[in-house]
Amino acid sequence: MKEPCRSCDRREIDWGGCRCQAMAVTGDARNTDPACELSEWHQAFADVADKESHEPSPPFIYRRVGAPVR
Ligand code: SF4
Repeated sequence: MKEPCRSCDRREIDWGGCRCQAMAVTGDARNTDPACELSEWHQAFADVADKESHEPSPPFIYRRVGAPVR
């Protein structure tokens, strides 16, 4: 576990947050979840979320087992 998680009081509660999200946003699953305000990637992550929240939603596509992938 890297800093700031290593020395955080919540490390045994949330275990550094989402590993998938850390990998997707930072390129390293060992990094702090960028959703955490203590993450060095947090502001960039929040900026993307803020920008996308003001854009129109993409069309909703239902997923079904066996349905062809578009
Ligand atoms: S994700 Fe944030 S709150 Fe959780 S352990 Fe790491 S630094 Fe602490």
